[in-house]
Amino acid sequence: MKEPEDIRTLDQIKRFDPNFHPKFSPNLFAWMKARLRQGVPFSMYQMVESDRNILYIGMRNTHFTGTKLWGAMSTYAPSRSVGGYIVFDDTKRLPHWFDWYEQWGRCFIDPSHTHSFVDERWKEEGESRTCLWCGKRQHLRRWQEVIEKQKWENER
Ligand SMILES: [Zn+2]
Repeated sequence: MKEPEDIRTLDQIKRFDPNFHPKFSPNLFAWMKARLRQGVPFSMYQMVESDRNILYIGMRNTHFTGTKLWGAMSTYAPSRSVGGYIVFDDTKRLPHWFDWYEQWGRCFIDPSHTHSFVDERWKEEGESRTCLWCGKRQHLRRWQEVIEKQKWENER
């Protein structure tokens, strides 16, 4: 099976337009458009930092130019780049990432649904809610906790 190519044209990112579906990040879409208008293709890379997988979006040539995925999704900062101290090789490239993103949108990045986004993600109905982006459902669990406290006080 042929590996997906890097993203090189605006035509390739039409499918990630947040106007098409709210599951797509408006900031990330703006980042992609600005990047391509500068004539710079990009792909997705994964780095392990402090035992966590960190995703980077950008391009590796002699060095990497790009940004952390969360950065591109959180703020519109197309010119911000991380420098050449990061060494990527092809084993870190995730060419299928864009297909997964097309299918799940931002929920692919946050499958546990614990991250809060500025954009509306949930439709609440009573004690349950449904993710507007992927359809995942959650219920509201309520509980009470008894807190025992103690403190020294002066005798009268
Ligand atoms: Zn979801």
